[in-house]
Amino acid sequence: MKKLTCIVCPVGCHLEIDEHLHVTGNRCPRGESYAVVEMTSPRRTLTTTVKTVFPECPRLPVKSKSPLPKELLFEIMSELDHILIEKHVKIGDIIVSNIHQTGIDMIATKAIHPHS
Ligand code: SF4
Repeated sequence: MKKLTCIVCPVGCHLEIDEHLHVTGNRCPRGESYAVVEMTSPRRTLTTTVKTVFPECPRLPVKSKSPLPKELLFEIMSELDHILIEKHVKIGDIIVSNIHQTGIDMIATKAIHPHS
């Protein structure tokens, strides 16, 4: 039996999941899915920054468009260490597509304008 707090919505239900992936404590079906994924293949949305050439915005905030496998996060962070943004970007622009062959894109969460 493993105890988890559901992070899918602000209610934060206290879940318990057993070795047969039977979930209790969830107020809605999303909690059950969350607990099963968390036990079998945990994922997290990655939010971080990448380097830019712009002195007024030396680090650009980025995030994964969908949650990434938790066990790959360190390797993905190292991959992002090599990224250098040299063009202006808008919020939502793809910064790295298919990061680490996960099928998931990293996108900008801030714009860099010509005179920002
Ligand atoms: S189980 Fe449902 S209601 Fe409870 S925190 Fe998760 S998403 Fe929210």
